[in-house]
Amino acid sequence: MKIAVISGKGGTGKTTVATNLATVMKATYVDCDVEEPNGFIFLKPDIKESLDVTIPVPTIDTDKCNHCKACVDICQFNALIHVDKVMVFEKLCHGCGACQAVCPTLAITEEERPIGRIQIGTYGEEGMACLSGTLNLTEPMAGPIISQLKGRLGQETSLIDCSPGTSCNVVKGLLDATYAILVTEPTAFGLHDLLLAIDLVEQMSIPFGIVINRVHESHNQVSLYCKSKGYTLLGEIPYDRQIATLYSNGELLVRQSQYKAMFHEIADGVKEAMACSSSL
Ligand code: SF4
Ligand code: SF4
Repeated sequence: MKIAVISGKGGTGKTTVATNLATVMKATYVDCDVEEPNGFIFLKPDIKESLDVTIPVPTIDTDKCNHCKACVDICQFNALIHVDKVMVFEKLCHGCGACQAVCPTLAITEEERPIGRIQIGTYGEEGMACLSGTLNLTEPMAGPIISQLKGRLGQETSLIDCSPGTSCNVVKGLLDATYAILVTEPTAFGLHDLLLAIDLVEQMSIPFGIVINRVHESHNQVSLYCKSKGYTLLGEIPYDRQIATLYSNGELLVRQSQYKAMFHEIADGVKEAMACSSSL
């Protein structure tokens, strides 16, 4: 059972929600925000395993190549061009293998190219599983790392901490999700980007609930909007100096009993909403 945590924009508190909720739900935490993973700053897991992530990219044997350009034509990512010889633009290559499959002279072989790393560890006395991916600097493709992270999950409950925004990396994180938690903030920008996130999960037919972070108004417009639309409001995290202090010290909010109770309430709301959506 995968629960994806997304936000229409960065800086809304998505990782705060994902890490703290994972601990109270005793769920596997998976940091799929591989361009800027920061969940481990708060969980500080005991790292058990660290692995390179690679993708296969083509290399061309010019002696065997007959210049038919079949490989160039089949590549959907413009990673190959033919100018006197076939040239490979490695960072555009998605490692799909299509070029090798169509080459009539077997001139194409593959080499593994590292694009990032994944780390696997445990948190706390109960050994809560934690996974995190990191895309190497200057690498453009996060997808294979997200796939490898999710490929290591079984049937256990997992919290998928997705990339911010509504990019293809977020879609990759959302695939197979049973439920989505949308984290936003009570501002006009927050509402604007929340609507993009809602549009995405509705297009993917994923049931969702909303958590509003940094709530400091009694009538915030996002809360009013959610109520007017009948959206599930899972909880509101207060705009609070103590929370900011814990966050800036790299500590989980659940270390304080009042915030632990707040995340238990959010977790109960998630379980209830998931039970309702699965019975429909
Ligand atoms: S492996 Fe796929 S993406 Fe990469 S160059 Fe070949 S056809 Fe293009
Ligand atoms: S498909 Fe093979 S033979 Fe044809 S251009 Fe590409 S590498 Fe050369």
